Amino acid sequence: MNLNPAKIPDSFLNMSVDDLNERIIEIKVKLGKRLQILGHHYMSDEVIAHADERGDSFALAKIAAQTDAEFIVFCGVHFMAETADIVTALNQKVFIPDPGAGCFLADCARIRDVENVWREIETVSSHKIIPITYVNSGADMKAFCGDNGGLVCTSSNAAVALKWAFERGDKVIFFPDQHLGRNTAFALGIALEEIILWNPDEALGGNSLDSIKQAKVILWDGFCIVHQEFDVGYIEKLRQVDPQINIIVHPECDFSVAQAADFMGSTAYIIRMISAAQPGSHWAVATEKNLVNRLKSSYPDKRIEILQSFEPYCKSMAQITLTKLAYQLDQIDRGNLINQVIVDDQYVISARIALNRMLELT
Ligand code: SF4
Repeated sequence: MNLNPAKIPDSFLNMSVDDLNERIIEIKVKLGKRLQILGHHYMSDEVIAHADERGDSFALAKIAAQTDAEFIVFCGVHFMAETADIVTALNQKVFIPDPGAGCFLADCARIRDVENVWREIETVSSHKIIPITYVNSGADMKAFCGDNGGLVCTSSNAAVALKWAFERGDKVIFFPDQHLGRNTAFALGIALEEIILWNPDEALGGNSLDSIKQAKVILWDGFCIVHQEFDVGYIEKLRQVDPQINIIVHPECDFSVAQAADFMGSTAYIIRMISAAQPGSHWAVATEKNLVNRLKSSYPDKRIEILQSFEPYCKSMAQITLTKLAYQLDQIDRGNLINQVIVDDQYVISARIALNRMLELT
């Protein structure tokens, strides 16, 4: 598909926030149940305010698989909209207000590299290997996992996905987020010596033959640029000031950060933990700033801060603006179906197999 967003005319670019909100609400009322707007938690306040459903990538994938809406507007990044297109029916159309909103992490695993590495590992290991891809990956990666007996996972169900894989194979290769893979495998009791990192630019991924044979989990060398902004030094500083502070981190953070934290879990887990926490309790959260700031304003009775001296944010998520959402809806209303996300037919069936294996996990 064309990853360039449709050009927005000046009449829209010059509209006030009030007028944009009014136009969005007007179209939502007009289209009713034919339209569903899905919003990821990392969206800005002004965009998420219009979401019919908000959630993390797992929750939104499940909602997309269940909705009957004809038009699904995905306020998130591109791979999420692709996932929605894969799990919806042919008569449903998925849109993203800016198709150029990619994901640094998803781009870490290119299918050509992955296929080369898969072949390389097969030549040196006779073990049965199950591929798992984090949902933050392209449709081609999901299809690869579907074709090779594997599945998709999110940060909400990575542990269950790993268990599923070990019931069917001897080893797992985990794409593309090394940190989610390492943190989850270690939490399941797999020793660090049994978890290796595969650098696709090096022979044998930079590993010895012995370490490959002994490995239970092979991690792809990918990471989320936003979640690498958190560090152990800052945790130590906060603990010196307040020994009672609760440190809660997303599993895309580095292993050292995850180990130094009190709690680790998906976006949905972080929200659950903080919503259920005692009034007056103090929390430092390692994830994207829009979510942390929303938690802060939703729970003024708790002390909530981001786990860094600045506010790490996802530039890709920030590409979805109120203006782009309003223009997207305006064009749908006029029958001009811009920014539709259509996954290449060659990937749909296999990617759906991998996604359905995930959706059936819980
Ligand atoms: S926060 Fe990280 S993983 Fe999430 S969309 Fe942004 S770059 Fe991708």
